[in-house]
Amino acid sequence: MSLPDYEDWKKLAQEFTHQTRAFIGGKYVDALSGKTYETINPATEKMTAHVAACDGHDVDAAVKSARSAFNAGHWSRMAPRDRGAILQKLAALVQEHGDQIALMECLNVGKPIMEARMADVGLSSAALKWYGEAIDKVTDEIIATPDNVRATITREPIGVVGVVVPWNFPLMMACWKIAPALATGNSVIVKPAEQTPQSILKLAELALEAGIPEGVFNVVTGHGAEAGAAIGLHNDIDCLTFTGSTAVGKKFLEYSGRSNMKTVWLECGGKNPNIVMADCPDMDKAVMNAAMNAFFNQGEVCAAASRLLVQDSIKDEFLERVAAIGKTRVPGDPLDPETNLGAIVDKGQFDRVNGYIAKGKEEGANLILGGNTTTVNDCGYYINPTIFGNVTADMTIAREEIFGPVLSAISFKEVEEAIDIANDSPYGLAGAIWTSDINIAHKAARDLQVGAVSINSYSSADIALPFGGYKQSGIGVDKSLHAIDKYTNMKSTWLELG
Ligand code: NAD
Repeated sequence: MSLPDYEDWKKLAQEFTHQTRAFIGGKYVDALSGKTYETINPATEKMTAHVAACDGHDVDAAVKSARSAFNAGHWSRMAPRDRGAILQKLAALVQEHGDQIALMECLNVGKPIMEARMADVGLSSAALKWYGEAIDKVTDEIIATPDNVRATITREPIGVVGVVVPWNFPLMMACWKIAPALATGNSVIVKPAEQTPQSILKLAELALEAGIPEGVFNVVTGHGAEAGAAIGLHNDIDCLTFTGSTAVGKKFLEYSGRSNMKTVWLECGGKNPNIVMADCPDMDKAVMNAAMNAFFNQGEVCAAASRLLVQDSIKDEFLERVAAIGKTRVPGDPLDPETNLGAIVDKGQFDRVNGYIAKGKEEGANLILGGNTTTVNDCGYYINPTIFGNVTADMTIAREEIFGPVLSAISFKEVEEAIDIANDSPYGLAGAIWTSDINIAHKAARDLQVGAVSINSYSSADIALPFGGYKQSGIGVDKSLHAIDKYTNMKSTWLELG
């Protein structure tokens, strides 16, 4: 099957009808208040849709629907193998509707269509499939007891799970949570980011088609401070799983304390160190990875390689080569399959990233590449790939998460200094080291205070590996069988035989 070309995508975009309503109890519904808000295409700056602005009343309706579906047991008590088969069918439906879903992510996020088609669609479908295949292989435990006792440890679905997600990979971030939550028998209420409701609304419809009973999968669209907070504060939601900024993650901990003490799982920000030693075994690969992982998805990636730590002796040449690759990331129309750098998601984020670029210049970092904005067809929120050299560890651009195509390069003398700089951060999501020295590689893997370390590579994308942060990057993990712990209660049963 051949993929659409540029003209096809433009035509599909023109014909595209945006879904504008929430999804509760198996139906698309307006917000009870009748209120809507606008979504904007960041590449054109034009309004794309009026979407239901849900509030606490809609969240209440979604919780009632989720709870009654859970209690009915059609999903929560279904045999894991049957639930798994339905999730695998859903994964196939996501692929089948891949062009449409990719278009939704492209129009809402401003990301290049081919990246949306390959990464967002492909990895969302892969997550659903993986948990669908895995769930009937998860077993419970029986423990060693005296002969007259049988004691078991069993897992049960936790109940109603609130899922609040960001805009950078709208469907994929949601699927990393929805897939294990559904696989274990829970009902879910998903709140997409304001900017990006479409793909998750589509998934809800496909879930019904795949065989997930009405009320198990609900989507509440709207603003964080209203719909998001109402989910966090709801007394009949048992578990809250969030991906987004550290500041909002902390709010969810508060919401939990102020309501029913629901469990809270957080995947938050990152300022990830990518350490390159002079004895790096493959400099070409390291250069390519340093650039690609700083600028992929416009740098709007929590695990972006946003802090480059390069050993002094190779610093100048290495940065020159990274800049040369950076120049090949050229802002373009996200609908063009040739585009490799899209628009920034919205005006607010565009201003925020530009603010950090101004701060970098003001604090005396050396601007090696970019540092300016551009337009495509005279519009759009585009920022050129930007590299700052001579960054010191105390500068704002070395410490704060920028979430844009901005790379801050810091030099160091010895590996110990690099590790100290790397760990001097409130974040601890991901990190990498490039070296030929096996001792240095192992020590760095041990000493870096991050949830995911790469050695002579920059990626831990495999769905079978846990992904989660140390420190203020989060609590708990997405992906892997370990994510199942988040969505299950553990029950001990002690039976004395008569
Ligand atoms: P955000 O925190 O502003 O929003 C995330 C979600 O929270 C959205 O759905 C939003 O509507 C909601 N929200 C906002 N304010 C709220 C409030 N007061 N109460 C309840 N809900 C609220 O984040 P964003 O701008 O959408 O995404 C960017 C952030 O996400 C970055 O910090 C990035 O690092 C992080 N992120 C982390 C990971 C990870 O896996 N660690 C992955 C992707 C993105």
